[in-house]
Amino acid sequence: MRRKKPATSYVTDAELKAMRDHVRGGALDKPGVYRMISPGGEVLYVGKSKRVRSRLLSYFRCAFPAEKGARMLREANAIDWEYTPNEFAALLQELRLIKKFRPRFNVMMKSDGRHYAFIKLADSAAPKLLVVRAPTLDDASVYYGPFHGAQRLGEAVRELSDVLGLRDCALDHKMVFSDQPELFETPAVTPGCIRYEIGKCVGPCCGASSVSGYMSRVGDARAFLEGRHAGPIESLRESMILASELMHFERAASLRDKLQRLEDLREEFTRLRFAVETLSFTYTVKGAEGDDRVYVIRRGLVRAEQQKPKSKKEKTALHEMVRSMFSGEMPTTPGVVPTHAIDELMLVSSWFRKHPKELKRTKPLAA
Ligand code: SF4
Repeated sequence: MRRKKPATSYVTDAELKAMRDHVRGGALDKPGVYRMISPGGEVLYVGKSKRVRSRLLSYFRCAFPAEKGARMLREANAIDWEYTPNEFAALLQELRLIKKFRPRFNVMMKSDGRHYAFIKLADSAAPKLLVVRAPTLDDASVYYGPFHGAQRLGEAVRELSDVLGLRDCALDHKMVFSDQPELFETPAVTPGCIRYEIGKCVGPCCGASSVSGYMSRVGDARAFLEGRHAGPIESLRESMILASELMHFERAASLRDKLQRLEDLREEFTRLRFAVETLSFTYTVKGAEGDDRVYVIRRGLVRAEQQKPKSKKEKTALHEMVRSMFSGEMPTTPGVVPTHAIDELMLVSSWFRKHPKELKRTKPLAA
């Protein structure tokens, strides 16, 4: 349900000064998260910082009224904050608070899955690729994702189907393969489909393709989506170079755009796969005032957090906890991340991409 935007009220100079005094008098330069709250109790903004005090005071120095910081302060009459043991914990807490309060001024990280889409390889006699909002996981179809932006994803999937000659007609459209006995009773006809006529579908509906021929192309699609095969990209690149050499520049430009869409798709999926497949470990982070923490991260998601064990007994207890947490876990569908988890996965992944040295503080999860 769309939330009704509350009426905006602006705070007075005296209230602004009171907020600044509150920050000056109480905030410390430690990692943490903070909230700006309106007179009506609405959480307007959630932020995080390695140094909460410095960050909060910087808002009061915004030079231009149009700056986001200044606009938030004009609508807020209270600021509160909490400290976290480290910057990584602040990031996680910021994400959780944003998801909980959905503050108006947080334009990032507010999505709850509505902006994501998945590629579905629909199970049928001649499987086809399509874009869906969420996996149903109740059939033999294979899903990949999530990806940002259904429209952009739809265009990339269309290019992929075109390059590989996969069908895109209705799922219940009757298929007649060339090696199908039925073909001898029903002679092959052209399907009256433009994609077949212009060579963008191999024609599994009209006896123009064998089962194995079509399924081998489906296998290429899977290999591409799983990062094992760059064939579709190479094929487009070759066509683009040829068109350019023949001075068919308009066609070359169109092929370049198609190529770009597929490369973007591959890159986005590579990032996702990296996160899911490589981010499984315990991660120890030094904390302020000796509050060192251990995070148990599995497939890019933080599954548990606790103080770093100091004694042998505590280490054994942590090991046992990790083992029992994952021993009964159901295997997940390859290539699929639940939409509710994608923001955290991306956050953890981007943390380790930006701070690669932090990987030295990780240890593989013991079975
Ligand atoms: S050629 Fe046949 S199988 Fe291919 S898209 Fe057209 S109708 Fe579907």
